[in-house]
Amino acid sequence: MILYNSASRKREEFVPYDPSLVKMYTCGPTVYHFAHIGNLRSYIMEDILEKYLRYTGYNVKRVMNITDVGHLTSDADEGEDKMLKGARREHKSVLEIAQYYTDAFFDDCAKLNIKTPDVVEPATHCIDDYIRIIQKLMDTGYAYFAGGNVYFDTSKLEKYYVFNDFKEEDLNVGVREGVEEDTNKRNRNDFVLWFTKSKFEDQALKWDSPWGVGYPGWHIECSGISMKHLGENIDIHCGGIDNAFPHHTNEIAQSEAYLGHPWVKYWMHVLHLNTTSGKMSKSSGEFLTVSLLEQKGYDPLAYRFFCLQSHYRKSLVFSWENLDNAQGAYNKLIARVAALNPGDGEFDEAAFHELDQKFRTAMDNDLNSSLAVTALYDVLKAKTNDATKLKAIAAFDTVLGLSLIEKAAARREELKRQQVVAGEFTIISESGEADADVEAKIRARQDAKKAKNFAEADRIRDELKAAGIEVTDIPHGAKWKRI
Ligand code: AMP
Ligand code: ZN
Repeated sequence: MILYNSASRKREEFVPYDPSLVKMYTCGPTVYHFAHIGNLRSYIMEDILEKYLRYTGYNVKRVMNITDVGHLTSDADEGEDKMLKGARREHKSVLEIAQYYTDAFFDDCAKLNIKTPDVVEPATHCIDDYIRIIQKLMDTGYAYFAGGNVYFDTSKLEKYYVFNDFKEEDLNVGVREGVEEDTNKRNRNDFVLWFTKSKFEDQALKWDSPWGVGYPGWHIECSGISMKHLGENIDIHCGGIDNAFPHHTNEIAQSEAYLGHPWVKYWMHVLHLNTTSGKMSKSSGEFLTVSLLEQKGYDPLAYRFFCLQSHYRKSLVFSWENLDNAQGAYNKLIARVAALNPGDGEFDEAAFHELDQKFRTAMDNDLNSSLAVTALYDVLKAKTNDATKLKAIAAFDTVLGLSLIEKAAARREELKRQQVVAGEFTIISESGEADADVEAKIRARQDAKKAKNFAEADRIRDELKAAGIEVTDIPHGAKWKRI
C-alpha cells in the first residue's frame, strides 16, 4: 500500500515497525462544542484508513485522545481556554461540558459509521504521564521554567519544522493581533508544556506538579497518551491539516527529545472541508453539524458517501447542492443493490477476486476512495451472478462503511410490504436509470398477463428484447436491464 507521508512529502510504501500490529494514533476532538462536519471529514477518512488496514489483514491498535483541558483559542498557547469558554457559554461545569460533547461526538460518529478507536483517553486522565515527560525534558535541558510556566525550548533542536519549509520569521507565531505576546518565551515558537501562572483566575481543573499547581499544555497530551498506550513508536499519526503546525510539530519536538529516537513513521493529514464562504470552524460559532443535516432530511451516510467521492489530500467544498447530489446517488446505489437477488447463483471466487483487485488497487493508491467507489459500481455492472456481487459489495462496505447491505435488505422488505398491502406491482431498474417508456411496456405486459392474454404478454416481452431490454419476473414485480 502506498501512503503519502506529510513528513517526507512523498508517497511511500507502507511498512509498519512491527507487521503483527499496526499502531495508529488520532488527534481527537476538543470537546467544548459539537463536532462540525469538517472535523468529521477528517475522522471519516481516518476511519477508512483503519478499516482498509484491517481489510488487508493487519491487526490495528488505534488510540484517540479527547481534549478536555489545555487547548487555548489560539493554537499557539494564547487566548482563552476553549473548555472554559464552552462552560461559560452554557452555564455548566467544565466536566459537564466535556462529558456532554464527548457523548455527542460519538453519537455523530455512530451515525456516520465511524468506528470508535480501541482506546479513547481523555487528556485529564493522564496527568502523571505528562509530568514524567516534562520532568525528563527539564532534566535534559529541553525545557525551562519562566514566569510560572514550563516551556519547551525549540532552539535546542537541530530541526524544528517538519511539515513545511517556512522560516521562523515568516511564521510570526506568538504575535497575533489583539493577543499579548508571551514575554516568558525564549524563542518565538517555544510552547507551554505546563501552565501554572494561569491567565484564568477561574481555571477549573488543576493538578499538583513539581512546578506548582496547574494544568498541561495542549500538545503534551498527545505525546503522553500515545506513549502510554502505544509505546515508543507509532506507525501512523493522523489529524486534520491544521494540526500539522504547530500541534504535530510540537508533538514531534517534545516526543523525540524525550525518547531520543524517531517517533512516528507516517503522518497522514486530511485536507479541510470548506464552505463556499471559507473554512468551517467551531470557534466562529457558525458550522454545520450531523444533527442539522438530519433535520434537513439527509441521511448522515449520504455525507459519508460525499466525502468518499473525493481524495483526502484535496480540500473539499461543501454546498447543499453537492450534498443533494450525493444523497440522490446514494439512494440510487441502495436501489441497485436492493435489486440484486441474494438467491441468484453460487459464489464465484474467480469473479470476486477480479473485482476485489480493482478495489484494492484503488485503496492501495494512497487511499483513493473515489476510485474505490468506482470499483463498487463496477461490481453492479460485472458479468457475474448476484450472489457474488452481493459478497463483493459486503466486503468493500466493511471499509467504505455505507451500510449498503443492510439498507438494501430493508428496502427489499419495505417494497415487499408495500406490494402486499397495496397489491402493487413494482418495476426495478437494475442500473438505477429511469425510463418511462420501458416501464409503461412492462406494465402493459403485466396487464396482459392478468387478463390471461399470454400471447400479448409474450409479444411485449419480445418487443422489449428486440430493443435490447431484458425483463425478469420477481415476486410482486419485474426488474429490467439493458443487454
Ligand atoms: P478540534 O476538535 O478542533 O481539535 O478538531 C478535531 C479534528 O478536526 C482535528 O483533526 C482537526 O485537524 C480537524 N479539522 C478541523 N477543522 C476541519 C475542517 N474544516 N475540515 C477537516 N478537518 C478539520
Ligand atoms: Zn494531537
